[in-house]
Amino acid sequence: MADIFDQIIAGEIPAYKIYEDDDVLAFLDISQVTPGHTLLVPKQHYTNIFDYDEAITNKIMTLIPALAKAIKATDPAITGMNISSNNGESAGQTVPHSHWHLIPRYDDDDLNDTLVPTIDNSANYDQEAYETIATQIRESVEDSHGL
Ligand code: AMP
Repeated sequence: MADIFDQIIAGEIPAYKIYEDDDVLAFLDISQVTPGHTLLVPKQHYTNIFDYDEAITNKIMTLIPALAKAIKATDPAITGMNISSNNGESAGQTVPHSHWHLIPRYDDDDLNDTLVPTIDNSANYDQEAYETIATQIRESVEDSHGL
């Protein structure tokens, strides 16, 4: 059965898309632990990192720094970034389709320095607020001529 990220990739449910090519899709995480929180997802169904082959490993590991730089370039207040992937239920993976969290950090974000808890801030965001952030990051990706 298709998981929620399969449905986003298929265009069956909407997402605030940041970047797309034949192999991956990046879009805003609905929870926005901090503003700009983005997910990078392989389009092919890999449940988690334990399924990865060399091709998707190379692709993801190349794209993560490029996407991180593009997100950081959207706001001088972004002074750091947590990048993580939960692999397996025991590790807190809730969507069974591999994904990478890029969570911008701000000096005043009041989160613990190293451990980013699961926080759902979606109640603070309407469609316009998501679209504003997604547009900023998309434009930053374009400014760097893709990823
Ligand atoms: P994890 O707990 O690491 O599996 O992360 C799953 C992430 O997917 C959570 O941070 C959710 O906020 C996010 N998420 C779930 N559904 C959606 C959706 N429809 N659009 C964007 N992000 C989503």
